[in-house]
Amino acid sequence: MAHAATSSPISSALSHARSENGYTEIDWDKLGFGLTPTDYMYVMKCSRDEEFTEGQLIPYGNIELSPAACVLNYGQGLFEGLKAMRRENGKLVLFRADQNALRMRIGAERVCMPSPSVDQFIDAVKQTALANKRWIPPPGKGSLYLRPLLLGTGAVLGVAPAPEYTFLIYASPVRNYFKEGNAALNLYVEDQFDRASRGGAGGVKSITNYAPGLKPLERAKKNGYSDVLYLDSESGKYIEEVSTCNIFVVKDSIISTPPTKGTILPGVTRKSIVEIALENGFKVEERQIAVEELLEADEAFCTGTAVVMVPVGSVTYKGKRVDYQATNANSMCKRLMSLYSGIQNGLIEDKKGWII
Ligand code: PMP
Repeated sequence: MAHAATSSPISSALSHARSENGYTEIDWDKLGFGLTPTDYMYVMKCSRDEEFTEGQLIPYGNIELSPAACVLNYGQGLFEGLKAMRRENGKLVLFRADQNALRMRIGAERVCMPSPSVDQFIDAVKQTALANKRWIPPPGKGSLYLRPLLLGTGAVLGVAPAPEYTFLIYASPVRNYFKEGNAALNLYVEDQFDRASRGGAGGVKSITNYAPGLKPLERAKKNGYSDVLYLDSESGKYIEEVSTCNIFVVKDSIISTPPTKGTILPGVTRKSIVEIALENGFKVEERQIAVEELLEADEAFCTGTAVVMVPVGSVTYKGKRVDYQATNANSMCKRLMSLYSGIQNGLIEDKKGWII
């Protein structure tokens, strides 16, 4: 098998999770994308007719739910994902957390939930990151992945919005999403299963979007692929996105990516890369991209908070495999990656206030 997400129930990097000087006890070089439980999580609750007011940090641990909780029965839930990073100068930073907050608000509206304000969201993320700061890896060794959840935790029997909601953030140190680090991905173009359809919830980070993707993902991995690339469900002609990341195609130095019109998750990384590319004088097109165009592209790459930026090494569609020169040092992926990570690690000035 070429690549696989390095998720394990409990990360192998974890040795003495509860020890007070965990910073030195974790083997940062063994960090993958598995769960390493950290010290604290943030919890805030409200009822359906209220707004969120105040949350608190509590020790990380299991939560209690009614068997009739709406999230368990009807999937009323959203999640987010962002990272806290440690810079060389010791500063701890977050990247565009407001964008995750806004995306959660849009998703909450779609699935009938109250949601924290942008300020509440950012404050909660900061509190969670700081409470777990000993778990933020040293520079270059990964980051602290923060996972905000918004869940309909109140009990219902008939299909209806929950009477009570829980906003929760937990954290885990992580490094590369794919087992083989930043090596190029071998994508399988999925022409049997769809991820999202017009009018559905593909454009928000609803938890319901992910379980149906497990089967195609497992099948692709079993066949040696890194991940699945989905097509639009209406015509099956146009590329949409990968299981947990967006895709870009480069041809004759023009960068293209599918438009976010409800079936694709509007990735924060995607948006940032589009903005960085435009500012640096590259031509960017957000438009429908036929699979054939992908097969004839000079280069393709994927973007996402967890995966960051990864080149596509090959694409297999209906039994035909196309390989790309993904490792070219001058690739668009590498050039944009250095601009993107430069802003995150402070080597490039943050002119837009993306860094918190
Ligand atoms: N698409 C899907 C389906 C995702 O789950 C993610 C991860 N959030 C992305 C794209 C990338 O989004 P972002 O850049 O905000 O992490």
